[in-house]
Amino acid sequence: MKKPIFISITAGLMLATSFVNAEDTLPLKAVNRAGEVIDAALEAYGGAEAIANLNSVARKSHFTTWATNQSRSPGPPWDENEQMSFSAIDFENQTFVGKNKGSGGGFDFNASQIIKAEEGWNVNYRGGTVTPIAQPDFNTTSGPFIRVTAPLLVKQLQNRRQTSHWLGEVEFEGRPHDVITLVMEVGPALSLYFDQETHLLSRSERVLPPFGQVDYRFTDYETVDGIPFSKTFKLFVNDQPNIIIDIKSTLVNQSIEQHAVVPQDLEMVEAAPPAPTEVELQEVKEGVFLVGSGNTYAMFVEMDDHVIAVGGTAGIPDRIKAMREVVKDKPIKYGVMTHHHNDHVLGVPAYQAEDAVVLTVKEHEAVIRAAATDADSLKLQFVDKKHVFESGGRKLEIIDIGPTPHAKHLLVAWLPSEGILFEADHFPNPTNGYMQPAQDVTKSLAKAIDKRGLDVKIIVGAHSPRIASIDDLRRSLSLNPVNTAQISP
Ligand SMILES: [Zn+2]
Repeated sequence: MKKPIFISITAGLMLATSFVNAEDTLPLKAVNRAGEVIDAALEAYGGAEAIANLNSVARKSHFTTWATNQSRSPGPPWDENEQMSFSAIDFENQTFVGKNKGSGGGFDFNASQIIKAEEGWNVNYRGGTVTPIAQPDFNTTSGPFIRVTAPLLVKQLQNRRQTSHWLGEVEFEGRPHDVITLVMEVGPALSLYFDQETHLLSRSERVLPPFGQVDYRFTDYETVDGIPFSKTFKLFVNDQPNIIIDIKSTLVNQSIEQHAVVPQDLEMVEAAPPAPTEVELQEVKEGVFLVGSGNTYAMFVEMDDHVIAVGGTAGIPDRIKAMREVVKDKPIKYGVMTHHHNDHVLGVPAYQAEDAVVLTVKEHEAVIRAAATDADSLKLQFVDKKHVFESGGRKLEIIDIGPTPHAKHLLVAWLPSEGILFEADHFPNPTNGYMQPAQDVTKSLAKAIDKRGLDVKIIVGAHSPRIASIDDLRRSLSLNPVNTAQISP
């Protein structure tokens, strides 16, 4: 291994010695101009020394968020939600604390993540539990906070200036800006827009598959301890507003130790075992299969001469393949879409490729067609309140239990003889079976079951490999949220 190192050192020396005479190539210009922009930015943000000494930042903020393609209705205007947030970072001690409290989509949350170098915990204040994090990662966990805090991005530029290139000059909001790149420890590169006059960061952009273009805007600067911080922040995804952050307070270079204390009054719970990484098939009852991996699962029901598939989350082609190893010769005649959210319509092209009829509600037609490979040739059938499949002595009911706090229309699959219910997004079912206090969505699911007098014995879902019992649902309904923590820096 010594030789390659020697070669790289030689190459490095050659580069250094020929540097003086280098002609002004495009890459060289890109590096040199980026260096000038970084130096000017450091000056504008209180000076290189102030940024080097910027060790800790704690901020309390109010978030307004829009549930793009994740609202109760299939189109805009998207549901608007609010949350309070507190974030604190300490670089020297590799400590990060992120607390969030709010609600959306029929779920309430009140939780925090604490990373202290090699140790980490997920604190669920609503559920009253603390779970150690198996592999805490300071860089990944603190990344989202750094990306919305301009002086911390400038600090990243200071430490990682060798990753930066100047991309060019652009007009942004009527003012000339220099655009330079930043490659952080984790994630795709950012393009940062610095105002040529103030040298402050106005905007940052990155492309994040599968979301698309994520666009960050920094506005309303205020100086805290000699360093300008933007007081409001806007995030757009594909030009649509996604998050507005209103900063309520900013503390600089103060100990954040007291925020990183793990609450002692909550129950310490072992982390749930990870879901399978390879596609697994479970036969829930004869001819009824739950197939999936990670956090996406579909149910396949064998009828007399065909199969009915339920669920449209990621990886449906692989789930069909796994099902085919057991049910070899029956075609998939129907694919049932539980609802219109963008992570639940990914299976439409797979069912279309199987020449199956896709079941949905009339209100979701446009979203389902847009998800298809060929919208015009997609075979659709609409469920009006309920559709019953019966063949070969098997009965499968598709029931619209909407409106729920999550979606105006929501299809569940119900096998009355087997007592099996398949649902999406209404019953969190962790792999260890440790139930949390019921969310509003779970309560609405329980109500729908009661109202229709369904004798449910087993619940399976689109996001869990675990086969739950009706007792799990009852247990969740019997627990009350703990909600001990307030967001305060
Ligand atoms: Zn959903």
